[in-house]
Amino acid sequence: MDDRSHFAAGELVSVLTAQPLDRFLDYKAPEGGVFLGAYVQVPLGPRQVLGVVWGPGKGDFDYNKVRPVTKVLDAAPMRDEMREFLVRAGDYTLTPMSAMLRLATRAPGLSNPPSMQKVYRLGGVEPDRMTDARTRVLDVLRDYGGLSFTLKELAEMAGVSTGVVKGLVTQGAVREEETPRDLPYPRMDTARHGKPLTDDQAAAAARLSDGFAKGGYGTTLLRGVTGSGKTEVYLEAVAACLAAGRQALVMLPEIALSEQFLVRVEQRFGAKPVEWHSGVTMTERRRAWKMIGQGEAELVVGARSALFLPYRDLGLIVVDEEHDTSYKQDDGVIYNARDMAVLRASLAGARVVLASATPSLETWANADAGKYDRLDLTSRFGESVLPDMRSIDMRAQKVDPGRWISPALVTAVMQRMERGEQSLLFLNRRGYAPVTLCRACGEQIACDHCDARMVEHRFLKRLVCHQCGETKPMPTECPSCHVEGKLAPIGPGVERLAEEVAAVFPDAKTAVLSSDLFSSARALKEAIAQIADGDVDIVIGTQLVAKGHNFPRLTLVGVIDADLGLQGSDLRAAERTFQLMRQVAGRAGRAEAPGEALLQSHQPDHPVIRAILTGDEEDFWRAEADARRAAGMPPYGRLAAVILSAPEAQLAFGAGQDLARRPGPLTAIGAQVFGPAPAPIARIRGRHRVRLLVKADKGVALQAAMAQWVGQLRPHKDLRVALDIDPQSFF
Ligand code: ADP
Ligand code: ZN
Repeated sequence: MDDRSHFAAGELVSVLTAQPLDRFLDYKAPEGGVFLGAYVQVPLGPRQVLGVVWGPGKGDFDYNKVRPVTKVLDAAPMRDEMREFLVRAGDYTLTPMSAMLRLATRAPGLSNPPSMQKVYRLGGVEPDRMTDARTRVLDVLRDYGGLSFTLKELAEMAGVSTGVVKGLVTQGAVREEETPRDLPYPRMDTARHGKPLTDDQAAAAARLSDGFAKGGYGTTLLRGVTGSGKTEVYLEAVAACLAAGRQALVMLPEIALSEQFLVRVEQRFGAKPVEWHSGVTMTERRRAWKMIGQGEAELVVGARSALFLPYRDLGLIVVDEEHDTSYKQDDGVIYNARDMAVLRASLAGARVVLASATPSLETWANADAGKYDRLDLTSRFGESVLPDMRSIDMRAQKVDPGRWISPALVTAVMQRMERGEQSLLFLNRRGYAPVTLCRACGEQIACDHCDARMVEHRFLKRLVCHQCGETKPMPTECPSCHVEGKLAPIGPGVERLAEEVAAVFPDAKTAVLSSDLFSSARALKEAIAQIADGDVDIVIGTQLVAKGHNFPRLTLVGVIDADLGLQGSDLRAAERTFQLMRQVAGRAGRAEAPGEALLQSHQPDHPVIRAILTGDEEDFWRAEADARRAAGMPPYGRLAAVILSAPEAQLAFGAGQDLARRPGPLTAIGAQVFGPAPAPIARIRGRHRVRLLVKADKGVALQAAMAQWVGQLRPHKDLRVALDIDPQSFF
């Protein structure tokens, strides 16, 4: 690429658009010229689309027929570092550049900045009848994952008249909203002091700041039990970064829920950071995107997609709870935000802090190999100590059918209530019951579109498929044998557990924390704040509660089914169970009162349960690492998956067999192919899914071989091909 940074009017420029075209298009630079990296609007057929000036034009087209750039958008041009990042991340994940650009431009109304404006987004209601034009409008809105656009942009992007959009608004299929203009964000005050640190914490903070002083890229694993002050320590690194005049990003797994975190940042720096996640309004998104690009937003707290914001000078990325599975995006562009954070930082000359009480094996191994620096906070702050952890052997407990809380656990909860302390009962299963069985014919109600059982949600009075989200009213008769009144719930979900709690502890004030019970992120935030204030005796929760909330009066954690997650064929089952249990147990005894964690298990001698109880993490990691190394599995070997899906099982299978018969590009790098096999979830949203798994040695050119291999497939309009490099879950 030529390193000129400005093109005069009429010169040819190469533009990357967010349209799925797979090539760059030539345009003429507009009146006044255009900068390299500029965000532009360009004509494409009948439409106007968003693009970025990527370099000089190729000139392989009749100059007179090349159209000019329509307009240059009012936004800071994309920096070289960002362009490089998109290319490298796209190469790694085998994602087309157009899709990478969509990730980088997830903000509405970029091309139109009046002071107040109407924007349009997906409304959720199906229009009475579908036309091609209407489909195009809805497709544009869906492509951008629920973002909104101005009327003109939307109509232009879809190549329709504004009347079509207005028609959809009347129908409720598109929603109209008002947004005000953008303002810079308040400055962070780095002169304020944080809490006085303990020696341990101060030493860790100093090491992080030293890294800063040295400059350049570097990654540090900050390991410490929950409550050891990791957040206090990395906020010092944030302060050092901001004081150096650079921007910082803190990534959190469940950002929408982290009111407490925002309050902490405000206490530390005197102003709220910029939030970036799916719960942020369209107005704020657009403002954030622009201000981050202009350097008028210093600290961003966000979900994984915050990694693709146009930072002007990114100096630090903190990935909190770095082991969390929600960093892996499994739909659309398949990427792991933790790994991409390291990539982005290495290109931006930024520092990375990976914080966790229970790091992923990948990160643990990188630290073990000396690629990452490692800092350990060994004790909890102040009086609080790690909870005492014990198992309750369920084989020796008398529990009635349809009940799940053992007498031993009941006694422990009672004691807490008498002392005015809180208990948490943890069950990682949403809904009322995981299975609905017909006692007349034995039928288990399954989803019509997936290979999954429907889960009863009594709160919603519906059956819900946790795979595809399909719901239907709870039937009164069996859909198979049509006998009435014989449908019975089997097994517990949190809603059913709540029922049991109400029966066993009639005087207790309870709260159920499960993502589907809250209509909005705000409602959930309020519930969490209420619990933190101590206004609840028993909290019943799914893995939502495992994510770093601070409940000072919580002193008991009861894990209803510690064995859940040990079954199953997932490579990471042991790792996941270990992490989840440690995190949940870490909720207890954060303040002055010591905590206790009780794990109900039918196999208390299982190595994972034993490792959780003894707390010997280093032993657990080493054993798990040895097992993976011996098997050539990640992080010591590499995996990649191809998921083929089609409405017809035969089409997906045929394509899979076709690929399996032509492993040439993979055998050339010594990789093995497994499959095709039905993917563990063999059907999602009416599409049959077939998976091939590729296993290779570390250090081979896996992506190139994968691309070549899959490139042999004959395209078919009904066949979808998804590539997953470093698959995490085996869905
Ligand atoms: P982690 O991120 O490791 O879970 P936190 O940073 O959230 O730990 O610390 C746990 C609790 O202890 C928080 O309420 C925090 O404010 C408090 N804390 C930690 N270190 C200190 C300190 N040096 N001085 C005062 N409070 C502290
Ligand atoms: Zn389904």
